[in-house]
Amino acid sequence: MKKLNKDIIIIGAGPIGIACALECKKRNWNYTVIEKGALTNSLFNYPLNMTFFSTSEKLEIDAIPFISNNAKPNRNEALEYYRRVTTSNKLNINLYEKVVQCIKNNDHFDIVTSKAKYRAKKVIIATGFYDIPNLLNVSGENLPKVFHYYKEAHPFALQDVAIVGASNSSVDAALEIYRKGGSVTMIIRGDSIGERVKYWVRPDILNRIEEGSIKAHFNSEIKHIDQSEIKVQTPDGDVTVPNDYVIALTGYRPNFKFLEAAGIKFSKDEKHIPDYNKETMESNVKGLYLAGVICGGMETHKWFIENSRIHAKIITKHIEAAFS
Ligand SMILES: Cc1cc2nc3c(=O)[nH]c(=O)nc-3n(C[C@H](O)[C@H](O)[C@H](O)COP(=O)(O)OP(=O)(O)OC[C@H]3O[C@@H](n4cnc5c(N)ncnc54)[C@H](O)[C@@H]3O)c2cc1C
Repeated sequence: MKKLNKDIIIIGAGPIGIACALECKKRNWNYTVIEKGALTNSLFNYPLNMTFFSTSEKLEIDAIPFISNNAKPNRNEALEYYRRVTTSNKLNINLYEKVVQCIKNNDHFDIVTSKAKYRAKKVIIATGFYDIPNLLNVSGENLPKVFHYYKEAHPFALQDVAIVGASNSSVDAALEIYRKGGSVTMIIRGDSIGERVKYWVRPDILNRIEEGSIKAHFNSEIKHIDQSEIKVQTPDGDVTVPNDYVIALTGYRPNFKFLEAAGIKFSKDEKHIPDYNKETMESNVKGLYLAGVICGGMETHKWFIENSRIHAKIITKHIEAAFS
């Protein structure tokens, strides 16, 4: 297989990978974005009816206007926006090509994908965290009735559904399924609904729980999942709850194995923060940059589009100095 030579390879075509591509394009660099799925694959896999907590201008890249019907855009509007930014700027993006290896050899990087081999002077990893769910690690988790992603409510009408977690995703799913005729039980490890739940959604979930239309077990964990029921450990002892589906929305994590294989080091604590220079976004591997939400390690709430879109300009400014 012939090796393709590039100045820059960007791994991941999420909002931040696209922002990096725009900056490379402006400088006429020989760059390619390699994306294993569809364009903005994480956003594509979000719940169909999700609304962003950010207003649309906070999701803009390079100040290209993002017009949405309401102040806070929905998934379809965001897909439309990032798609239009990509097509109207004719960005170089290879879709459905997975990067399996990225190794530094002397002054360059050798990148192996599912379709080709590349040699690049610099690499930007913007692979996010949405591909690997945090598992419950309980018996029965591999049954087909257990999901770690939520798309829409209709399949769960008239069904007993357990939702694990108390974050925005869990709360949105619980409310939506309840309103489409599902019987919802939330299993929550802490003693309350998550602090970061959207302020306009919070009263809704609290009231539904208080009136009993959505059941909630706080300080509780699923212990076992069966075909027709689940066992839940609660402060009052174990309870058995009738169950057709489990939706475990317990967060996601970056692909640490991939990053480690690329030579990236991490903080030794449970946060597992990758080693990078905050001024330049360059990792401990010279010439290898990190961009977007991947920078948070296990702290996946720390970075989002709003505050990480700036990474694209920081990185390309640093590369520009190295190239000149
Ligand atoms: C439900 C939900 C709501 C959110 N709401 C907001 C909000 O309102 N405001 C906000 O600012 N943020 C929000 N976020 C966070 C934000 O959407 C993400 O932070 C954003 O997608 C991060 O962009 P990114 O480009 O860093 O990563 P991603 O968008 O995750 O992009 C990473 C890309 O890399 C690709 N990839 C991964 N591995 C490989 C590989 N080996 N080879 C090739 N490609 C690969 C993936 O397929 C993916 O397309 C929300 C997140 C969720 C889950």
